[in-house]
Amino acid sequence: MSRIRFNALQETLRRKPIKVIQNEKRSTLFGQNVFNKYAMQQYLTRAAYESVMNAIDHGTKIDRKIADQVAVSMKDWAMSKGATHYTHWFQPLTGATAEKHDAFFESINGSLAMEKFDGEQLVQQEPDASSFPNGGIRNMFEARGYTAWDPTSPAFIYETTLCIPTIFVAYTGEALDNKTPLLRALQAIDTHATAVCKYFDKNANKVSATLGWEQEFFLIDEALVLARQDIQFTGRTLLGHSPAKGQQLDDHYFGTIPARAMSFMQDLEQECMLLGIPVKTRHNEVAPNQFEVAPIFEEANLAVDHNSLLMDVMQKISRRHKFKVLFHEKPFAGINGSGKHNNWSLSTGNGTNLLSPGKTPMKNLQFLTFFINTIKAVYHYEELLRASIASASNEYRLGANEAPPAIISVFIGRQLSAVLDELENVTKGKLSPQEKTDLKLNIIGKIPEILLDNTDRNRTSPFAFTGNKFEFRAVGSLANCAIPMTVLNTIVAKQLKEFKIEVDALIEEKDLKKDEAVFNILREYIKDSKAIRFDGDSYGEAWEKEAKKRGLTNYKTTPEALKAKVSEKTISLFEEMEVMSKVELEARYEIDLESYAKKVQIEGRVLADIARNQVVPTAIIYQNTLLENTKNLKEIFGDEYKIIAKEQLELIMLISNHITKINALVIKMEAEKVKVNKYSGFKLAAHYSNKIKPFFTDIRYHCDQLETLVDDNLWPLTKYRELLFTK
Ligand code: ADP
Ligand code: MG
Repeated sequence: MSRIRFNALQETLRRKPIKVIQNEKRSTLFGQNVFNKYAMQQYLTRAAYESVMNAIDHGTKIDRKIADQVAVSMKDWAMSKGATHYTHWFQPLTGATAEKHDAFFESINGSLAMEKFDGEQLVQQEPDASSFPNGGIRNMFEARGYTAWDPTSPAFIYETTLCIPTIFVAYTGEALDNKTPLLRALQAIDTHATAVCKYFDKNANKVSATLGWEQEFFLIDEALVLARQDIQFTGRTLLGHSPAKGQQLDDHYFGTIPARAMSFMQDLEQECMLLGIPVKTRHNEVAPNQFEVAPIFEEANLAVDHNSLLMDVMQKISRRHKFKVLFHEKPFAGINGSGKHNNWSLSTGNGTNLLSPGKTPMKNLQFLTFFINTIKAVYHYEELLRASIASASNEYRLGANEAPPAIISVFIGRQLSAVLDELENVTKGKLSPQEKTDLKLNIIGKIPEILLDNTDRNRTSPFAFTGNKFEFRAVGSLANCAIPMTVLNTIVAKQLKEFKIEVDALIEEKDLKKDEAVFNILREYIKDSKAIRFDGDSYGEAWEKEAKKRGLTNYKTTPEALKAKVSEKTISLFEEMEVMSKVELEARYEIDLESYAKKVQIEGRVLADIARNQVVPTAIIYQNTLLENTKNLKEIFGDEYKIIAKEQLELIMLISNHITKINALVIKMEAEKVKVNKYSGFKLAAHYSNKIKPFFTDIRYHCDQLETLVDDNLWPLTKYRELLFTK
């Protein structure tokens, strides 16, 4: 009997929820560990405060003397809260976060010591980061990399460390992280959206992208996970037979949160409050033991940092509660996977949501302008958007039945579709006074009412308009939001730039009024981008066929999808918008391919190991018991045993059959693995995708069949029913 599984089950059954002390109101806790505006006002001189504010609002440089002042104040503030160390906190291209802690402590002449932290340490550091992926940008012997302070994301204290959000770049200037391109994309959207805003409001001076993510995850008992090397090493189950009861009854969704999970959530939320992460919503998700947390939306750079931080904090807090958090997009076959919806919009300096209709026809025209330009951008760059969410783990979700498909399309709902259909018929060139009035009163004038009762929601769409924002639903739960957000903001920035050029041309060359010119261009955009709009069921086969007819791409594998990251179209887009250079793009593509290959490689190794060293030996033990039993029956009953032991004999044959198949498949898979030495880059990733990954399903099938045949008491791996229904 396999002791580890049963010990784990016993341990799990004995667990009690950890009591979380909640003495203080959330509003009191909020931001206590963040060097935010409030703390800065208290600790900084007026000049230093203004300098930091200017850097945040207008991207101005902070000079060295001021940086020294900020550093000293930051240290005083951090020490008053018990911090002893500081770190530059950054997001290398591994997709995770990185930190290296240094003490504030410094000794003087070897005898005295003091706490020290100066501007130089705040502003720039050189981490020994030679083993972070750099895709060939940073030749280890030549160019080094450094981290540099990002004042737009406030420093915070986690445990006893002051964490300073930073970018990570090579000395030659190339970005080695996910934050730098995001900041550049946010700069681009600010520039081009502000320019377009000026059509509607002469005083417009700033536009920020906003992001509200929704993080889905599974909470599985730690002991049960320890009995499975697949979850430990790959974040998902590589095998396991479906339980008799799965999610058919939908009885978990929005149900009462189980006690232990609840106590984890309370603990997590308190920590989030201290860190200034404005989490607001928590609920059960569709699958058993699946949950979601979501914050109030924030400026996109901050929201991205907060999501990365949240994922770190969740891992740490889950340990206290004896849980393992699974962020993988598809930890359990046949059970809903996890995503991370990215709710995105644009907001002006005075807080006007540009994707929310207003009270006047002019405001509605502004809304339509941003709305239609976004749709056009998504249409024109659908391949790139698809590439931005491609990964080895999201591959198990995209195109699977309950997740958004691998085809990018935009849902806007019946009523807004009707508005666009009407706008499509606007006269070319100058509009008659009658037509103008009609447009203002009957078409764009009606938008706010339409949206108020717009209840039609389409859960199957990968990119849906939901009343006052777009919701990019195909982003993976494990993803760093910076990557899709960099792409989305860059493509919309580029689209708005084009729009402005075209509208200005009509005003100057054709002598059209501003609103006439806007209507004229929007009309063309509506016509051009029709193929991307789809309000039907995106999960159906019919859509796959229809999308193909419309010329939309449908890349089911990650290596194929990733190609768009380095297409000529992409390179010229990113270079024009000054978001990434060709070198930076190619580096990321290399890293993505390599990471894909490595992940599939690890899965292959772990699966082969489990199949051969756990599943097959267990099946043999059980088969031996059956053989022993059959032999005994024969001894006692003679020839009659064939009837009496019919079931046993059948089982013996079945087990042999599955064992033979598993062995043959593993041998074939190993043979394919040997070939990879010849390949690198795309070919390597494609080989893993096309030649190695397909074995997983077949090997799994035979293992899962054995799971249903072998005595439950012998089975060494915790089963789906135990992983999913133990609370
Ligand atoms: P759901 O999509 O689950 O029905 P909501 O519509 O309430 O839920 O919003 C979901 C998420 O959208 C929340 O995380 C919220 O912060 C975010 N959100 C709302 N408005 C905006 C906005 N203007 N920009 C970005 N995110 C937003
Ligand atoms: Mg949502």
